[in-house]
Amino acid sequence: MKQVILTGDRPTGRLHVGHYAGSLRERVKLQNSGSFDEIYIMIADAQALTDNAEHPEKVRQNIMQVALDYLSCGIDPEKSTIFIQSMVPQLTELSFYYMNLVTVSRLQRNPTVKSEIQMRNFEASIPVGFFCYPISQAADITAFGATAVPAGEDQMPMIEQCREIVHKFNAVYGETLTEPQIILPENASCCRLPGIDGKAKMSKSLGNCIYLSDEPKEIERKVMSMFTDPNHIKVSDPGRVEGNPVFLYLDAFCEPEDFSQFLPEYSSLQELKEHYQRGGLGDIKVKRFLSQVLQSRLQPIYQRRKEWEQRLPEVYEMLYQGSMAARERAEQTLEAVRHAMKIDYFTQSSLLQ
Ligand code: ATP
Ligand code: MG
Repeated sequence: MKQVILTGDRPTGRLHVGHYAGSLRERVKLQNSGSFDEIYIMIADAQALTDNAEHPEKVRQNIMQVALDYLSCGIDPEKSTIFIQSMVPQLTELSFYYMNLVTVSRLQRNPTVKSEIQMRNFEASIPVGFFCYPISQAADITAFGATAVPAGEDQMPMIEQCREIVHKFNAVYGETLTEPQIILPENASCCRLPGIDGKAKMSKSLGNCIYLSDEPKEIERKVMSMFTDPNHIKVSDPGRVEGNPVFLYLDAFCEPEDFSQFLPEYSSLQELKEHYQRGGLGDIKVKRFLSQVLQSRLQPIYQRRKEWEQRLPEVYEMLYQGSMAARERAEQTLEAVRHAMKIDYFTQSSLLQ
């Protein structure tokens, strides 16, 4: 069977280090592994509109920003097809048919949607489009015959929902759709990076992010302002590393060689953590280290972004070509779906049979 990746991001803001740890870094690795026949990376503008209906301009502006973030992280348009969701109308038609295979109560049980509804204060009035976005995500995944979806932990319920739709569709209409697997980051601390404010998830919509495009000075400012253990007041106090964002970021980004380069008094992250837990290690020192680690990881990304910013017409052309290629691939699935459902009325005069 063909090995195919589908993954993407909502153009609701520039991409942040949570995206990098949770999904982008893995995507680049998978892209360069040579184990995949096709890779589709979607800028999910239609999904972004489900909770930004009044701000299409924000979504439009961020399409280019997300494309620039992809290219700066090492997504290579020669190997991966980058496209814009709404430029592939076949996805909307697929969603419409899948909606008949899912119940309202099943959507209501989705824990990610539940917490996102809460986060956006949508409890009293949820836009129907937002409520249904897990179905549209199933359309995105199945349209490309994706076998793998590299994503953060918050996407697990979406993949589960998609698999259920695939089973249901195939059971009712015959074997047509491919079942996807989620690929989570190997490093568990990357599955869900918290915000710099200590909230459970770094998220564009919460404004608690370190962006991949942040200037080095800005990264330093944000790291120095990060939430840590609130009970670690004096340097001599014992501190908690569990759930402490500064240490969670180190878990996600620190490499063994960072110690010899930036903090030679310690030989490993374990040793640094033990000192913090015992007491006697100040937050400022750990934050300075984290800032250096992050800057060293993000520096090449920042540099490449500056270069791509000078080549916007090429980025535009790449998005156009990618969207057209995606449209062609999705059309094949749509035709297979219509055929399986016997609603391909005008192929081989099927309406007359
Ligand atoms: P929004 O607030 O608009 O939903 P977001 O920051 O949650 O934006 P998405 O575009 O929804 O970002 O997510 C894109 C991908 O990045 C998904 O695979 C998601 O799992 C991953 N991701 C997002 N935030 C994090 C995070 N804090 N830690 C790890 N992975 C993340
Ligand atoms: Mg999200």
